[in-house]
Amino acid sequence: MSNRIKAGIVSVGNGAASAECIIALRKCGYARDIHVVSDVDMAPYNPMLVTYYASTKIDEGMLFPFGGRDEFYRKYHVAFHPNSPAVKVDGVRHEVELENGDVLLYDKCLIASGAVPFTPFSIPDVLKDKVITVRTISDGEKLKNVLSERPAKVLVLGASMIGIKVLEALHSVGSNVIFADLAQHVFSLAAHVSCSQIIEKYLGDIGIQLRLGTAVREIVPGEECKCEVHFTDGGPNEVVDYVASCVGVRPNMPFIDRQQVKTDRGILVDTHLRTSCLDLYAAGDVAQGNDILIDGKRIIGLWANARMQGKTAGMNMAGLDREYIGSLPHNITHFMDMDFVGIGDVAHGDREFHFEDKSNRTLCHLTWTENRLTGINLLNMPELSGVLKDCLIHNLEGGLPNILSGNPLAMNRIYQKFPQLERELMKEVRG
Ligand SMILES: Cc1cc2nc3c(=O)[nH]c(=O)nc-3n(C[C@H](O)[C@H](O)[C@H](O)COP(=O)(O)OP(=O)(O)OC[C@H]3O[C@@H](n4cnc5c(N)ncnc54)[C@H](O)[C@@H]3O)c2cc1C
Repeated sequence: MSNRIKAGIVSVGNGAASAECIIALRKCGYARDIHVVSDVDMAPYNPMLVTYYASTKIDEGMLFPFGGRDEFYRKYHVAFHPNSPAVKVDGVRHEVELENGDVLLYDKCLIASGAVPFTPFSIPDVLKDKVITVRTISDGEKLKNVLSERPAKVLVLGASMIGIKVLEALHSVGSNVIFADLAQHVFSLAAHVSCSQIIEKYLGDIGIQLRLGTAVREIVPGEECKCEVHFTDGGPNEVVDYVASCVGVRPNMPFIDRQQVKTDRGILVDTHLRTSCLDLYAAGDVAQGNDILIDGKRIIGLWANARMQGKTAGMNMAGLDREYIGSLPHNITHFMDMDFVGIGDVAHGDREFHFEDKSNRTLCHLTWTENRLTGINLLNMPELSGVLKDCLIHNLEGGLPNILSGNPLAMNRIYQKFPQLERELMKEVRG
């Protein structure tokens, strides 16, 4: 029998955005009942760590930064509805309908249902177990099993930040990996071509086969239960044990009525994380909030952004008046002895600074737009990221001389480590 349950606050989804919202609500003194609905039965976890879990670099417990299931929901006095995904959110009637038929009648509701991976080709039923995606803990379990088999050959589709982590895990167990992407270069959204090329050379040197500039047309069953992959460029087919699809994610919002709630790629939110519907908020990978770089709205699928949006939504839902100015595209990642930093937009700009040293795979590529730093790429120079990121975020005017003069201590440390970079920077300073 289904129930109609009166609820103070309902969170649809139980990831980082939801967890931070709950913590903020209680810290701000919100005393009424909070209900969390989820399609799974677990505490909020960190999808970023799923590949590390699969490759046994971390224990299962480390996936749960907010504590274990009972611990978290008990501590914050949350009524948890596990295995009960929301199937409809009615922002006018203030109702959330669950798959089991229950309806929660809310005062305020947060949509924090994250994103889901999409696979841009159909998968024949017999190959369903051969195509993996990476987002949830159950995806992590599947990847873990695949890694334990040490498959001979795997296609990783999507030369993205997630793809590279999967590639790394497979390479470490001795699999031959094909790294494929429709774009002409790896990390096409975050890296300048020169940076991509250094990474591509490195991947080639360690035996990774690259197939760039082509997409998968279809996957058909091959011999011995393998996947036969056909490409759009008509190049040779690949016969592989598994395909890891890491081409991207989509905001998870099938339960939203787009006539009621304004959406673009995600659910549109203002700086208070309010949607277009009264008392309905959204945060995290499902929300399209402010991008401080473009002065517009964009989905920024990052852990810190999800947390800050969730926290701000929670404070506002508790009755405070708080704004979150937004975030910007931002990747700092370590893979296979490489440190990559991509912040902002390196593809556009009206001025650039470029330094690279192929012998030790170091690179610094910066772009400016109207005298403001708008794009940063660093390879194996993580020391520079803090100082440059600060300049970019705070919209500091001026070129490198300005950046350098503001941070003499940091720059001294950097010069000691990268003397060639210092020479290049000094040329720039002197004009
Ligand atoms: C492999 C990988 C690597 C990553 N690397 C980085 C990185 O290096 N740096 C970085 O900043 N970010 C990274 N991210 C992104 C980061 O993990 C996300 O931005 C962040 O976790 C988003 O949090 P969220 O709360 O919005 O969504 P999620 O963590 O996805 O949580 C949403 C929750 O909602 C639940 N849910 C789904 N549908 C429903 C429904 N209908 N009803 C109820 N509940 C539902 C889901 O079970 C899920 O637990 C990575 C992600 C992945 C997958």
